[in-house]
Amino acid sequence: MTEEFGVYVHLPYCPYKCHYCDFNAYRLPRAPEARREMTRAIAREIERAPGEDRGKKVGSVFFGGGTPSLFAPDEIAEILRAISGRYARSRRAEVTLECNPGTVDLAALVALRRAGVNRLSIGAQSFREETLTRIGRLHTPEETRSAVAMAREAGFRNISLDIIYGLPGETPEDAEESARIALSLGVEHLSAYALELEERTLFGRLEAQGKLELLPDDEVVRAGELVGAACEAAGLQRYEVSNFARPGRRSRHNMLYWHQGSYRGFGPGAHSHLSGHRFWNASPPGVYLSRVAAGGEAREEGEVLSSEAVMGEWVYLRLRLAEGFALRAFAQRFGQSLDAAYPGVRRDLLAQGLLERLPGWVRPTARGRWLLHRVAAPFLA
Ligand code: SF4
Repeated sequence: MTEEFGVYVHLPYCPYKCHYCDFNAYRLPRAPEARREMTRAIAREIERAPGEDRGKKVGSVFFGGGTPSLFAPDEIAEILRAISGRYARSRRAEVTLECNPGTVDLAALVALRRAGVNRLSIGAQSFREETLTRIGRLHTPEETRSAVAMAREAGFRNISLDIIYGLPGETPEDAEESARIALSLGVEHLSAYALELEERTLFGRLEAQGKLELLPDDEVVRAGELVGAACEAAGLQRYEVSNFARPGRRSRHNMLYWHQGSYRGFGPGAHSHLSGHRFWNASPPGVYLSRVAAGGEAREEGEVLSSEAVMGEWVYLRLRLAEGFALRAFAQRFGQSLDAAYPGVRRDLLAQGLLERLPGWVRPTARGRWLLHRVAAPFLA
């Protein structure tokens, strides 16, 4: 798993901006050429950008955004051809495309499937119409149902839905109901995230002005627990704090991130991680396009992680995973025991009831999972 190489492609346009969104996403420009121009630039970056990653065997490709399903299937196919030119693709590579209800039809899904996309991640967020309106999404619950049905008809056997809990105006039971409806559609994977308020979003500004009514923290935790229980009752196992899957359907791309694997990102603001070296592209689409036009590369900055940072991140990412990690795995990776690297930390977390008492193993308790920032803080300090 850890040896797998991943490719991330960032397609930054959306038909609208959701009230909670802090991603590198922009309204699709009016100019009809905008999508084509972005497609050509990303294909060019993939073809020309220098790097030691050329020729690697790719196990996962992920089109994220933004709303990648705003791009035409032949544009996605063009980018996939460029990826095949730069890398060797494993025959069982997972190729995921993020998609928003209301932006796809059956013909497009069939064409995407033919182009090589074999997994869809659909942004449902909620199945309550008034909630969707309140959070600034322009699709209906019916369009989400229909997107899943069309995807099945188009031959997709691996579908994930995203939902958010702790949304303004929703009770924990409302979130549970959305999860139940999502699960009733028979999806293989569900990601359930607690709403996070970011300063630069409309919700962040409203919150700062005291104009956003939110659930108290313990009710958000209860919402998460109800959603988690609904997933498990439907046969999806929690394998990461916010992610649930049927057996064999974990997101390979995300597993790669959580195992500190190597990946290369293309497109505006895309991040890469190659052998402990992190770098990222210019984020604004205009800057990205002109950099690629000038030389085929849009790399902006980078950093080489210190060994302490790699070690702290290793622990943090594995604490996110349901199985946690073996003390032996840490010692093998870093040449010292966890207790020698972080004296007293494990003992304190055990005493606070945040880690389970398991011989040779480190895993957060259910409480620890909800307080993960507290569990992880001493490792990241
Ligand atoms: S669809 Fe996704 S990326 Fe686009 S604005 Fe909404 S949350 Fe952000």
